[in-house]
Amino acid sequence: MNIRILVVDDDEAIKDAMCKYLKIVGYESYGASSAEETLQLLENTQINVVITDILMSGMNGLELTDIIKKDYVDIDVIVMTGYSGDFSYEEAISKGASDFVFKPIRFEELHLRLKRVLKERQLKKERDEMLDKLQKLAITDGLTQLFNSRHFYNRLELEVARSNRYDHPLSLLLMDIDFFKEYNDHYGHLEGDKVLMQIGKIIKSCLRKMDSAYRYGGEEFTIILPETWAEDAQVVAQRIRQSIESYAFIPESADAVSITVSVGVTQYCPKEEISSFVQRSDKAMFISKRRGRNSISLLLADPV
Ligand code: GH3
Ligand code: MG
Ligand code: MG
Repeated sequence: MNIRILVVDDDEAIKDAMCKYLKIVGYESYGASSAEETLQLLENTQINVVITDILMSGMNGLELTDIIKKDYVDIDVIVMTGYSGDFSYEEAISKGASDFVFKPIRFEELHLRLKRVLKERQLKKERDEMLDKLQKLAITDGLTQLFNSRHFYNRLELEVARSNRYDHPLSLLLMDIDFFKEYNDHYGHLEGDKVLMQIGKIIKSCLRKMDSAYRYGGEEFTIILPETWAEDAQVVAQRIRQSIESYAFIPESADAVSITVSVGVTQYCPKEEISSFVQRSDKAMFISKRRGRNSISLLLADPV
C-alpha cells in the first residue's frame, strides 16, 4: 500500500516544495493550506501521516494535532516550526505528535524522521496483530476451535452479572458425548479427536449470534445462552442433539458411525452462585444419561 502524506502549511511555496519532494522519494503526497481544510480532507481521504506547520491563521497546528490524535488514532503527526521558541518539543509531543522538525526544513532530515515514524508505525501494527493473536489463542481450545473452559467462567461471570442487573433470563447447556470411551477404544484416539472437532463445528452451526460454545472438559461442552428462557434453551439443545445424531461420522477404513450426546438444560435463578448454576446443568445432563442417553433434560432451581 502506498504511504499517503499530507503537508499542511499556509505558505504555498513551502507546501508545494515539500509535496514535490515527498513524491520524488516515493510517497503519495497531498497538501492543505489550513487546519480547517485538513480536517475536511481527512473526512474522505485515508492519510497515514500529517506534517503540519504550527503558526497558521485560524486553528494552529498544535490544536490540529490534538484533534487528529483524538479522532484519527491511526494517523501519525509530525509538527514543524521555526526557531521562534513559541512552541516546545514537549508541547507537540504531549499533543500526540510523533516527531518535530525545525524550519527551514532540510528535506533529507525530514525524510529520515519520516522513515523512523513509519518504521515505528509498522512495528506497532505488528505488535498489535501479535497481541490480538495471543489473546485469541488464550481463550480458544486448540482442537475444536471453540472457546476454552477458562474463558467459559469469565464469560459466565459476565453474563450472570448482566442477568442479575437487568433481570434478563440466562440459560446454560452442558453436553457430554455418549459412550465416547468405546469409540476411542474401537477406532483410536486420533479418530476420537476428529469427532470432537466435527462436533465443535456442528455446535457452532446451531447457535445464534449471541450464544457462545466452550469445550468444558475432554468430551464435554457448555453453551451459554444469554437472553434465553429455559423453554427456548431446550429448543437449541434439541437442535444440537438432532444434528449430531444425524451426522455420519466415518472413521478411517470403517463404515459410518452414529454418535449421540446427552444434554442438560438449565436456567439461571436470580442471585444464585455461579457454581450452583453450573452444577445444576451437570445434574440435568446426568438425568439424560440415566434416561438412556441421546436426550435432553431440563432441571430448574427449587422454588424458594
Ligand atoms: P458416557 O456415555 O457415560 O459419557 O460414557 P463415556 O465413555 O463417554 O464416558 P467416560 O467418562 O467413561 O469417558 C470419556 C472418554 O472421553 C474418555 C476418553 O477416552 C475420552 N476423551 C476425553 N478427552 C478426549 C480427547 O481429547 N480426545 C479423545 N479422542 N478422547 C477423549
Ligand atoms: Mg464425560
Ligand atoms: Mg461421555
